[in-house]
Amino acid sequence: MQTVSVRFFPGLAKKMKNEKIYRDVFDHIKKAENIAIIFHRSPDGDCTGSAFAFYYALKKLKKRPVILSPEPLPFNCAFLDRGKVVRSAVGEGERFDLTIVLDLSEPKRIMRGIELPKRDIFGFVINIDHHITGSGVGDLIIQEPDAAATAEIVYRILKTNAIEIDREIAEAVYTAIITDTGGFRYSNTTSETFAIASELLNCGISSWEISREIYESEPKARILLLSKALSTLSFEKEDKIAYMKLTLDVIRNTGATDDMTDQFVNYARSIKGVEVGLLFREVSGGKVKVSIRSKDDIDVASFALRFGGGGHRNAAGIVLQENIDESVNKIISALKEYIK
Ligand code: AMP
Ligand code: MN
Ligand code: MN
Repeated sequence: MQTVSVRFFPGLAKKMKNEKIYRDVFDHIKKAENIAIIFHRSPDGDCTGSAFAFYYALKKLKKRPVILSPEPLPFNCAFLDRGKVVRSAVGEGERFDLTIVLDLSEPKRIMRGIELPKRDIFGFVINIDHHITGSGVGDLIIQEPDAAATAEIVYRILKTNAIEIDREIAEAVYTAIITDTGGFRYSNTTSETFAIASELLNCGISSWEISREIYESEPKARILLLSKALSTLSFEKEDKIAYMKLTLDVIRNTGATDDMTDQFVNYARSIKGVEVGLLFREVSGGKVKVSIRSKDDIDVASFALRFGGGGHRNAAGIVLQENIDESVNKIISALKEYIK
């Protein structure tokens, strides 16, 4: 079996709203039959919504799309998978002509179990993303850091190629946009975000019905876990830094699943006077996942890069191979220096 490394084309990265490239995406789609759709580890609403938007668009084009996710979908976005179409693994002997990689820009964020470098399985690779860090993965890279969500780019690609935005596509894109903007609150929200949202609502979807799935259907275990996380809240640097910790034991004891900690970090940032909020969470394999959120001009993507992480200016992540207390010491002392 031929195995070739995933190629990088940094020169192609950060192409902004380039309609020619949007049409190139469809030139590749037209030539393909079997198409895989994949996205990042610890999936969120943006990558899930972007995947379903593409899935339904490809179905309209009579292609054979497969959404592949070895990890479960986020609990609050599982409603998008009404037809139970998401698969957890590549089938025996299965081959794709094309693979679309969504909402990630570096190989290490591809889910375990998806061996993208195996070109004979995954075919031509198109990467669509909006992170500011990472130079992209694949043969054709569209990386637009000014997009509030990857789904905004997906939406533009579908519109450029005259795909009718039906309710299913609209619901998927809307889910992605509201989750990545925190309900149109974060600094990534632009007038274009609202313009797209307005067009989506004109497709017959209900903002409340989607919000109810995402924000008003909390599993009891998640709120119990939130109370544990909040009880660890600590402050540093004249209360400009607020952080919380969650150990695997605590997560397991509440009956919560790992995806349920998404958004907890926002409580730390939301406190008046706090400039950077963090959540340190133990994950399997002796690792610690650090979620970082900042206000205004504090660029936490650059900070995260120093520790092998990345993300966006105001929302970034790091994975450390250290115990949770060492991780806290290391990151908090570096952050105290960083924000000066
Ligand atoms: P999270 O705290 O996991 O929600 O991540 C915040 C943002 O940073 C998301 O946009 C992630 O895609 C990105 N991010 C998280 N972890 C990493 C990492 N280890 N490397 C690069 N980017 C990351
Ligand atoms: Mn994402
Ligand atoms: Mn995103």
